[in-house]
Amino acid sequence: MEVRTLTAEEARDDIVSRDPATGREIGRVPVASSEEVARALSDARTAQNGWAKLSFRERGRVVMRARAIVLDEIEEIAALISEESGKPADEAIAMEIVPTLDLMQFFARKSAKLLKPEKIDIGQYGLMGRSSRIVYKPLGTVGIISPWNFPWAIPLGEVVMALMAGNAVVLKPSELTPMVGVKIGEVFKRAGLNDDLLQVVTGDGRTGAALVEARPDKIMFTGSVATGKRVAETAARNLTPVVLELGGKDPMIVLEDADVEMAAQAAVWGALANAGQACASVERCYVHESISEKFIARAVELVKSLRLDVGTREATDIGAMSSERQLNTVEEHIDDAVARGARILTGGRRNETLAGSFYEPTVLTDVDHTMLVMRDETFGPVLPIMTFKTEDEAIGLANDSPFGLTASVWTKDIARGRRIAEQIEAGTVMVNEVLYTHGIAQTPWGGVKQSGLGRTHGRLGLLELVTPQHIHVNRFSFIPDFWWFSYTPRASKLFRGFAQRFATGNPLQTSLLLPQMIRRFFERRP
Ligand code: NAD
Repeated sequence: MEVRTLTAEEARDDIVSRDPATGREIGRVPVASSEEVARALSDARTAQNGWAKLSFRERGRVVMRARAIVLDEIEEIAALISEESGKPADEAIAMEIVPTLDLMQFFARKSAKLLKPEKIDIGQYGLMGRSSRIVYKPLGTVGIISPWNFPWAIPLGEVVMALMAGNAVVLKPSELTPMVGVKIGEVFKRAGLNDDLLQVVTGDGRTGAALVEARPDKIMFTGSVATGKRVAETAARNLTPVVLELGGKDPMIVLEDADVEMAAQAAVWGALANAGQACASVERCYVHESISEKFIARAVELVKSLRLDVGTREATDIGAMSSERQLNTVEEHIDDAVARGARILTGGRRNETLAGSFYEPTVLTDVDHTMLVMRDETFGPVLPIMTFKTEDEAIGLANDSPFGLTASVWTKDIARGRRIAEQIEAGTVMVNEVLYTHGIAQTPWGGVKQSGLGRTHGRLGLLELVTPQHIHVNRFSFIPDFWWFSYTPRASKLFRGFAQRFATGNPLQTSLLLPQMIRRFFERRP
């Protein structure tokens, strides 16, 4: 088996984190080698034993102390997120910090209830003095590998959930936003969490790969489909379970009875917030032809009013893109679309007056599914709009994608919205909403198809971070089981009776076997 290691020599150069809006250096972090990652994991494993013994209330206290620190330093944290990722500081507060403050109080207070041992209905075995319960135990160590687009909300949410479930964590933040990752570690340390229980290992993809190779008890990966598949391949060799939160190409369907003004505002925010660099961004907008003219005109008007600027400046709506590489992908998609007949109604080019990686917010029409901009993840400030004639056509277009993260349906008829939502292949479908449900920590987050495996957030997300243990008790232990040795002729007949009657699940049927069972009970055993 191939084992790749990142030696200290190879990991020699520090990562320099820069503000994509200005190019200014924000900080430097080391690239952790394979050996350092393995050590972090082993220390985490040792520390976890004590942590798992604490009650939910005690763990929750640490999380609530960390929450108080975040709230205290909200402006400083928002500025750091803004400088390292390019997004407006206000947006960092609205889309990253507020949701995590809510997530922290929710899991600190509710994890005990969400992971309460559960009694299982075991049918007629219950009449035989048996009972079954599921208890949820921590996994041990969780490796979290996170992207740059929500450098605070994504890893922090997973860290909180993993800790509340009783695990220790090794976090590998994106190489584009390492300082935000380091800040998360610092907040918990100051909240009194043992250093070994949350360790932040900085580095690039090689450090991420080293973390997977080091065999944590679970990997929570968020990032691109290509990297996610690589992570899954490596993890499979060790049977390490993975949750993969991958890319999206999320559709928005605007039906003829939608509130056009609200739908247009939502489309513009859903496509352009975070400069379109959200896995759940509106990346494909399908509008009924009868309202498309009005919808497009309003969307263009709204987009033209947006202020593109450095994220830390007041009233900035759209900041720099996180990297030149991402901006190049957007350029490639727009060039391809235009070459195939798309029309740019506004934007469609890099902003030359601002020095950093800024792309003008863009509205495209006359697009179709041959174009990259309707097929691959663009991950940029682009709203491509296509029209449709019938509901079935819209559903078909929405599902014509390898991705399935979120989707939205816009209509005043909620029942119709729900009905259509259920026909869409996506982990989350919103009716009259876009993009934001990652911010509702109580709800499950995750995709279908190439958008990933497993869930984060909500009870389903918490269950990913524990192992269920089934505990079965027999209170009638003074009676030998009917199916134990010896397989006498009487037993043989009773087994057949069980097949015919007991296995129906009907106690009346089973009661017809009572005389046979009594005979079997008194049967002499060797
Ligand atoms: P990426 O796949 O390039 O990197 C993600 C993380 O993986 C980084 O920390 C990186 O260092 C690490 N990594 C790289 N190679 C690795 C390897 N071989 N083994 C282990 N780790 C490795 O993704 P990105 O560019 O940082 O993020 C953008 C992508 O993330 C988009 O596709 C976006 O849709 C997706 N995303 C998904 C969600 C979701 O919840 N589904 C949320 C945010 C972002």
